[in-house]
Amino acid sequence: MMMQGKHIRERTSGKEHRGRNIREGTSGKEHQGRNIGEGTSGKEHQGKISGEEHQGKNIREGTSGMNMKTERKERTYMKQIRHLLSFICVLTCALLLPHSLTLAATGKTDGGNGTAQEPVAAATAVYKGVDYSRVYDYDFYTTHNSVAKRYAGKPEKAIAYFVKYGMDKQHQACAGFDVVSYRFGCPKLRKQFGTDYKKYYLHYQQTGYKKAYYRKRATGITSMQEPVTRYGKIELGAIYDYFYYISKYPFVVSKVGDDDTAVLRNFVEKGLERGRTGKDPGKYKEADPSSKTYAKLKKEITKTNAYDGTGIVVCIDPGHQKQGDYSKEPVGPGSGIYKTKVTSGAYGRWSGKNEYEINLEVSKKLRDELIARGYTVVMTRTKHKVKLSNIDRAKIANAANADIFVRIHANHISESSQVHGVLCYAAAKNNPYLSKKVIKGGQRLATLLRDAQAAATGQRKLDNMYENDMTGINWAKMPTCIVEMGFMSNPTEDARLGRDRYQTKIANGLANGIDRYFKGA
Ligand SMILES: [Zn+2]
Repeated sequence: MMMQGKHIRERTSGKEHRGRNIREGTSGKEHQGRNIGEGTSGKEHQGKISGEEHQGKNIREGTSGMNMKTERKERTYMKQIRHLLSFICVLTCALLLPHSLTLAATGKTDGGNGTAQEPVAAATAVYKGVDYSRVYDYDFYTTHNSVAKRYAGKPEKAIAYFVKYGMDKQHQACAGFDVVSYRFGCPKLRKQFGTDYKKYYLHYQQTGYKKAYYRKRATGITSMQEPVTRYGKIELGAIYDYFYYISKYPFVVSKVGDDDTAVLRNFVEKGLERGRTGKDPGKYKEADPSSKTYAKLKKEITKTNAYDGTGIVVCIDPGHQKQGDYSKEPVGPGSGIYKTKVTSGAYGRWSGKNEYEINLEVSKKLRDELIARGYTVVMTRTKHKVKLSNIDRAKIANAANADIFVRIHANHISESSQVHGVLCYAAAKNNPYLSKKVIKGGQRLATLLRDAQAAATGQRKLDNMYENDMTGINWAKMPTCIVEMGFMSNPTEDARLGRDRYQTKIANGLANGIDRYFKGA
């Protein structure tokens, strides 16, 4: 990023990020003398979905009034009529009540009911303001679950037990939802949630129930559907089958659980090395550890240092934005030092592009590459016209609970057009805002990313910089680094940075660096 002494004042006001209240701040920041930048800018958060609140109504269950309008003309039939009415009443209650209870419990609006009856939230299915009525029914739970039986007659304790312990223990708490079936039936959710069972219950409660796909999987599925066979970018289906592998090596499940991603990782990291059979070689001869296919796949994994990013969240921040915001914000939590919120960054005469454009172009390529390798990616912006200060950007990473925060920038130095090469910024050892662990992680990330990019592009490696005044690093709660991909003040490097193919090289290189970071290499 570059600061050419503009004093444009732009205000931005807080904005809201889907569900979360991330305040975006705003604006430019100033780097005096250094060519770094934290830049800034727009972004669009396609973040996670946060718990959406259930708008269940409290519809009372229940009972239909019997109209007891009787005309008592015929005194003689009076008794019989009474008798008949009470019989009907009993019958009606017997039919209606359980039905409305079921509605309350499962939240199912039964199919095509014409009445606009919204799912009913039974009061007994609400805990700390959160409605669990689609996955929990008090009567069902306290009669079907042997431990929960002790809470019969104590609805508040029953729901508390379910939320605190029952979910983790995969308890089925209503007729319409069985978390085991749900997890087995939904491969995409498994990829996101792993064995965090609570997330499956909440997913169904909050969004899943709306879609036929998920409703179909809410009960009745007893074996894992479509267990994963792809590790990062490498497809291993030719030599690996989840069911075969766990039946042949049952200790794997006792070690890593029945999570398909974890089991596949075990095959890749331990199995291949030890020549374990991942699929029946009697039926599939390429699955034999002595086959060419087996050797080829094994080599591919080792050679590329491949890694599967399933379950890992990377937040990418494409530096800067179309319009800077030169008002100030504190460089770290509780700091009295203020810096520009976000600048618009450098301009490259040879690429003909602005830094914020190049940053976003590379960031999108990096995002796609990481997703292809199994990672979950959150972008701070996907457009140029945004108002995001460096604090805002860090807060997006925090809200996403990202494992690492990678900030993409290009460099610029006005003193010389000769300087070129790649380097990264991270927090210094004595950074007052961050834990030792986060600082160490950031520096390690900086080294791996710089080296991996240089290996992919052939660029010169420059010394990394460790600083304590980088707002977006100081506010982030996870290891963070700023990648300065190259110098836009250098004719050759700038021209390259603007090119699609070169950008792809950079993105692939950075993805390799991220793989290595998580692989522990
Ligand atoms: Zn920059």
